[in-house]
Amino acid sequence: MMPIGTDPLENGARDKLTLPAAPELWALYREHGDKDRRQGIRQGLWIAVLTYLLFSVTDLVLIPDVALYTIACRFAVAIAVLSMMEIEVRIGAPTSRLDITCAVALVLGYLGWLLPSLMSNEHENLSHYLIYGTIFMMGANLFFSLRFRLSLLASGVMLAAFFGALFQFAPLDRAYQITLGTFFVSCFVFTSYVNWKLQQERFKVFVNALEAKYLQKEAVERGKTLLRLSNTDYLTGLENRRSIDSRLREHWRQWQQEGRGFSVLLIDVDFFKRYNDFYGHQRGDRCLIQVAEALHRIIQTHEGSIGRFGGEEFIVIAKAASDEKVLRLAEEIRQTIEQIQLSHEERRDGVSIVTVSVGAAVAKVHSTSKLEKIIDQADRALYAAKAHGRNCARLYDPSDARARDLTENIAALLKIAVERDLVSLVYQPIRNLKSGAIDAVEALMRLRMLDGSEIPPSLFIPVAERTGRIIELGNWSIRNACRELLVKDSIGLISINVSPIQLKAPGFAASVAAILGETGVSGNRLAFEITEGQEMEMHSDVLRCLVDLRTLGIQIWLDDFGTGFAGLSWLRLIEFDLVKIDRSFLHASDTSEGETMLQNIVRLIRDRGPDLLIEGVETDEQLEIVQKLGIYRAQGYHLGTPSSAERLMELLTSTKKVDVPRAHSRKKLKLAGATS
Ligand code: C2E
Ligand code: MG
Ligand code: MG
Repeated sequence: MMPIGTDPLENGARDKLTLPAAPELWALYREHGDKDRRQGIRQGLWIAVLTYLLFSVTDLVLIPDVALYTIACRFAVAIAVLSMMEIEVRIGAPTSRLDITCAVALVLGYLGWLLPSLMSNEHENLSHYLIYGTIFMMGANLFFSLRFRLSLLASGVMLAAFFGALFQFAPLDRAYQITLGTFFVSCFVFTSYVNWKLQQERFKVFVNALEAKYLQKEAVERGKTLLRLSNTDYLTGLENRRSIDSRLREHWRQWQQEGRGFSVLLIDVDFFKRYNDFYGHQRGDRCLIQVAEALHRIIQTHEGSIGRFGGEEFIVIAKAASDEKVLRLAEEIRQTIEQIQLSHEERRDGVSIVTVSVGAAVAKVHSTSKLEKIIDQADRALYAAKAHGRNCARLYDPSDARARDLTENIAALLKIAVERDLVSLVYQPIRNLKSGAIDAVEALMRLRMLDGSEIPPSLFIPVAERTGRIIELGNWSIRNACRELLVKDSIGLISINVSPIQLKAPGFAASVAAILGETGVSGNRLAFEITEGQEMEMHSDVLRCLVDLRTLGIQIWLDDFGTGFAGLSWLRLIEFDLVKIDRSFLHASDTSEGETMLQNIVRLIRDRGPDLLIEGVETDEQLEIVQKLGIYRAQGYHLGTPSSAERLMELLTSTKKVDVPRAHSRKKLKLAGATS
């Protein structure tokens, strides 16, 4: 993984390789091939010494009178320098020392031959033999690859010794001295020059080779950087989707061919959009980086790969192939993120830290035929985890998938519902227990599939809310409720369920006003029920909308009181006209604790002031409890089941006259504590 949060391109640029400066290059040059050179020096010295010893024969032929001395000197020098060299090689002396030994060997060899030779009386032969001195010079400059300065020194010493001998050795005539002297000097100059050139050339070749190596290394590095970049997520440094896709294909291939199972986990940061909106994008990025780092640390301890799948979604491919192991890993991931304790004050679900939802799927034999399927399954599991209130881990469950398919079908159906006449309203009486009359009715929406079968509101309302269709459907139900019942004056008040999505939608109050205007119905014959269980933020726009609706004369009722967390705070924030106590409290009141609980709730609401209604009266006993509590408004199958407008009209005409409710006292919305 690249260092998280840094720009890899910049890193790549900084990693650019450059050649060292000249002195370092020379040092490198000398170090370069050091081992081979040591071997070469040693071998060279042995060859040179053996050749030197062979010249004993020419000593015997050309200067036989001093040959004994020259040969003795030759052997002495040979033994000394070779022993020296062997010792140095054995003790691992530096290569420069071996070079010096070679230079000393050349000088000693030259002097060891020259000095005894000068004592020879074979002047004629000696005058020719002296030329052999240039061989030593060539040895210093060309045979051994000594450092230039060292070979110059060695050959200089030889030149000086030669001139000393040339002018000390009286028997030679001037012309010969001049000829041989200039020959020696030329030989010194030329071999030194060639040596110098050769060294330059070798150095150049070395530098070029080094440069080529550097360039190649740079190209390889650059290639690696590019590959890393193309596979890395720029923000988190994790693998990107491209890289993860290819890993997935590899796991898939191994699974298909070798039966090695694997699992896929999708991780989504809960309420990340709100985090971004509240804290800003920079902190949003930092949050993602921190989550990525934590995930990376966990995955390092497991066999798996981690990548960013896009936005706030991460993906893990793990080798774990059993449900238990995968669930354990998913849970570990969830807990780890929870433990970072990154604050997230804006989620408004009672939790104030960053959490993740995890959906996991295991590649199972015969269950999936396509690679994409496993991602889809993990995605469905993630969806289930979110639907379960987030901050939890879920394993793919085929039955969830069927629910999801149904959800998709419902979403498609909702698009054509109004146009194809698939929606309708039923009305459930709200009884006045004192008079027995139907005080009001609650409009409840119904949806039919194309084959005529019904879909319960518990399924289609959440889909309509998620897809935004609820706005169109909501307006439709208000208009239809007005048209079906209110215009006929057959019923005094209709309560209509209104979703928070509608209240938040801009212009909702205006569209309600338009419907009232269009149908000629007065607003005070409508009540809107808001369910506290639904996720609703009491934002200023919602509160403003409620004020506008009340200005139209519409009552605001709190539905299903006691089922959510928000009820009490809403009661403090808004003065509802009526509170409907959820049927679960009535149904639980057959025990003494349940009864006490219901009594407490009733007292609590009465203290706040709104009217009361109890939902879900199904039996005589329950009706009695309601009456004992002094509540005179109730709703339930025992008092009237939801029915169509026609059936309701029949019911109304066959029973007693409908009481039109008194004009309701206008209560203002209390905005205490609300943020503007
Ligand atoms: P809700 O507003 O609390 O509606 C009352 C629900 O309780 C209705 O179910 C009704 O049929 C049922 N009910 C009435 N009396 C009894 C009883 O004695 N016992 C039991 N067990 N149930 C009883 P329904 O029609 O299935 O509606 C469910 C929920 O769907 C509603 O709860 C409401 O929250 C939502 N809903 C229904 N129509 C609409 C609508 O037009 N718009 C919106 N936004 N939500 C709606
Ligand atoms: Mg309701
Ligand atoms: Mg209700």
